Formats: sequence, structure tokens, C-alpha cells
Amino acid sequence: MTGPHKERAVTHTRLDVLRLPLIGLLRRRWGRLALQIPLLAAAVLLVIDGFTGPQMAARNLATVAPWVHFRGFVVLVLLLAGNLFCMGCPFTLPRTLAKRLSIRGRRFPRRLRNKWVAIASLFLLFVTYEALDLWASPALTAWLIVAYFAASFVLEAVFTESAFCKYVCPLGTFNFVYSTISPTQIGIHDPEVCRACVGKECINGSYSPTPLVRLDDIPGGQCEVRHGPEGTPGCGTLLFAPQIESNLDCTMCLDCARACPHNNVGLFVRQPGRELLRPEAWPKRWDVSLLAISLAALGLVNAFGMVPPVYELQRALIKTLGIQSEWLMIGLIFGVGGLLLPFALALLAGALSRALARKKLSLRHTVAAFAPAFVPLGFGIWFAHYGFHFLIAPLTIIPVIQEFLGQPGDWAAFSSTADAVLIGLVQGAGLVLGFLWSLALANRTAARLYRRDAVPGLLPWALLLLALAFAAGYVFSLPMEMRGSLLMG
Ligand code: SF4
Ligand code: SF4
Repeated sequence: MTGPHKERAVTHTRLDVLRLPLIGLLRRRWGRLALQIPLLAAAVLLVIDGFTGPQMAARNLATVAPWVHFRGFVVLVLLLAGNLFCMGCPFTLPRTLAKRLSIRGRRFPRRLRNKWVAIASLFLLFVTYEALDLWASPALTAWLIVAYFAASFVLEAVFTESAFCKYVCPLGTFNFVYSTISPTQIGIHDPEVCRACVGKECINGSYSPTPLVRLDDIPGGQCEVRHGPEGTPGCGTLLFAPQIESNLDCTMCLDCARACPHNNVGLFVRQPGRELLRPEAWPKRWDVSLLAISLAALGLVNAFGMVPPVYELQRALIKTLGIQSEWLMIGLIFGVGGLLLPFALALLAGALSRALARKKLSLRHTVAAFAPAFVPLGFGIWFAHYGFHFLIAPLTIIPVIQEFLGQPGDWAAFSSTADAVLIGLVQGAGLVLGFLWSLALANRTAARLYRRDAVPGLLPWALLLLALAFAAGYVFSLPMEMRGSLLMG
């Protein structure tokens, strides 16, 4: 353990899903592999088809699976269950091997132990996706998957903690932010057991160069604790189970549950978005606040990149600024629309909110207090976007698999799209419910911070949320490119 930890009395009387039959198998030593091996096999098949299959987006697993289906599943699973995709992430398999190699390695550089690199890698992924038309290129998508495995392995081999997951991975960062609305969270059963626990194995793991056995006196009796070279890793993202307030940074790997010698860690069902209501659950840091706000804006810009006005904007940029490079053009659109503008507007809203409510809270604390309110609306925007792509071609993965297996693809039976009204309803529901949830959170934050001056203090944030929701509604009302479907090619 790196220092004394305060053990807050976080008791859970709710359901621990790890104590249910079958799901409980996940906490076994190799339980996570039940999810990882199928996803690793899928990743390998994607890479094979990406390099050797037809270079036509709608007929190749490498493009259809990740860009049409996977993303739709991700948002649905985050909403209904939790961060199961990080739990089953195949990129962490070579990481686990690397972790064993790096057990005496260095920590990730202190200056980079924040979310700035993750914000930059999200930005880079979106720009690369658009500039290289990754959705249309099976081979490039396969290279991206290979690069992911390589980056994960190298970072985990060099540094002791799970640096790739915690500080770099754009997919994990997306999952971290939006798993804050999920209905499950890691927690503990009994704080007294944690107080008496000597080794804090949930965070420290149970590695030891030579085997050792210890007896812990915990409430209810003594417990034998074994450490050794084959020990279980502790939390790779350095979360301490008795103190966890939020799903941010939790990959749901369940290493903490496996490492705890007192069987005191659980995966509890909770009120969805519980931590968005709790001011102490989110760090008061610029990087975390701006991640939540900019991810919502990046969702809007990502969708904007697929509707006709983006081409008008590009023509205007060529005409007025003389920009010819597509990378520069897309970087400018994402940089301004997804990062600079939301950063600036968040600062402006924070400054106005403080002035109108006549409260001396610092700008950093003000922005941090309202940042969680951007999570539901941001999720609604991504839900509307990914839901559209999924519903446009919900079953096309079947003929693509048939063709991958050397059979004729039954496109006639499986290439129909969902009803346009249904797609519109799903998108509208995502946006409206996301906006209302965000507004309710902002209202609650304003009431907590400003009391009698809550209404003027809320106003700038409510307007910003409203503007974001209207802009998203406008973008989704326009005809959107049906990328990855046969209609688009
Ligand atoms: S190892 Fe288990 S008992 Fe010990 S501090 Fe962690 S969760 Fe609590
Ligand atoms: S708290 Fe840490 S060890 Fe436990 S599931 Fe989350 S990331 Fe894994």
C-alpha cells in the first residue's frame, strides 16, 4: 500500500451480483477469461478478415463489427449493466502478461497521471477515424486493432499500474465516463473487516517473491492469507475498494474481488448515476471536468461529421482559410467544436454562474460541480448516434459472418433496416431523457451550491445544456450517412 487510506463507512445492503449463481464465477481466478477469450477470438477474426477479406466496408467483419454493432452494444450495456466491455477487454490479455513482467517496473510519470492524455487520445481517435475513413477501410481498422494490442502491451510492460487503461485508452475513457450512469458499482460488504485487514490486498495484490502465510484477525474470526509468486494482482487502476465512490477508472476487472482474502468485495446493484448526485464522488480537477464536458461535445461533432452541413463547412474553410489538408480540416473541426468551444463555454458558464449567484466558490470548483451534469446528455447524444448506426443495419453481421466462413451471404434476409419512425423515437428518447436528467442534476447542484440564489446560478449551465441538446436535435434531424451498411457501401 502506498499510504494510509481512510476507510469510509460505505455499507451496502443491496444486491451483490457476484454472489449470484453463474455470475459469481467471474470472481474466480480465471473467471474473467470467460468474457475475454471470446472477445480475443473475435478481435483475431476481425484482424484476419481486415487484412485478407474483401476490402468493402459492408462485407467485412473488421468494419461491420466494430463500427456498426459493437458501439451500439457498448452504450446499451453501459446503460443496463455496467462496464462489461472493459471487463471483457481482450487488449488486457497481453497486458496481464506484461504486468507480470513489469512487477518491479516504474510508475507512470507523475505529470501524466491525469486525463489530459486520455482527452488527447480520444481526440486523435476521432480525427483519425474521419481523416482515414476507418469505417470504410477493413485493413486500416485491422491495423488499429493491432496497434491497440501493441500499445497496451508496451505500456503495461514498462509501468507497474494499468497505465494504458487508466491514462491512455480512448475506449476505456469513454466507458469510464459513461459507466457513471450504470446500475452497478464495486463496493465492500463490511467496513469493519476492511479496518482490520492488514494487507489491503484489494489494492496491493498478493504477490510476494517467496510464499508467506499470514493470519488476519477480522470480525468473525481469523482468516488465513497467502501471498506468493502466483498471487493475484490488486487494482491496476489504483482504486481502493472501501473508498470507491464512483465507477470512474474502474475497468470492472474484479481483481479486487479476487485479491480480497476476506471475500469482502462485491459488485453491487445501485441507483443508476448515483455518483452524479454526490459531490464527493468526482475529483475537483480540470482534466476530469473537461473530459465529461468535452466528451458530450465530441459526440455532437462526431455526429455532425456525418451530415450534409459538414461539407458546407469544409468548403467554407477551404475558401476562407485556404485549408487543403484533410487532417488539418478535420482536426480543426474536432478541435474547435469538441474541445476549445466546450472548454471556453464551460469556463464562461462557470464565471457567469459565480457572478450571478454571488458565490465565492473558485472557478475550478464551480466547473467541477456542474461537470457531472453533462454526462447524461452526452450519453444521450452517443446513444442517439450509435443507436442510429446499429438500427440501420441490425442484422447485417450475419451475412458478413456467412461470407467470412466461405458461405454465400443471405443479404436478402438480413439487410433490412429498422423502421425510420422507431429510429427517430430511439434517438429522440435518448436526447430528451438525457437532457432532462442533465437539467435535473444541474438544478440540484445549483440548489446545493447557491441555495436562495440557485436560479440565477443555474441559468448559464441550463442554457449551455439546452444549446447542446438543440444542436444535437438539429444534427440528428438531418439525413445521416449510413456508414458500414450496403446502402452506403
Ligand atoms: S483486501 Fe478486502 S478486507 Fe482488505 S481492505 Fe481490501 S476489501 Fe477490505
Ligand atoms: S476497483 Fe480496480 S480491481 Fe476492482 S474491478 Fe475496479 S478496476 Fe478492477
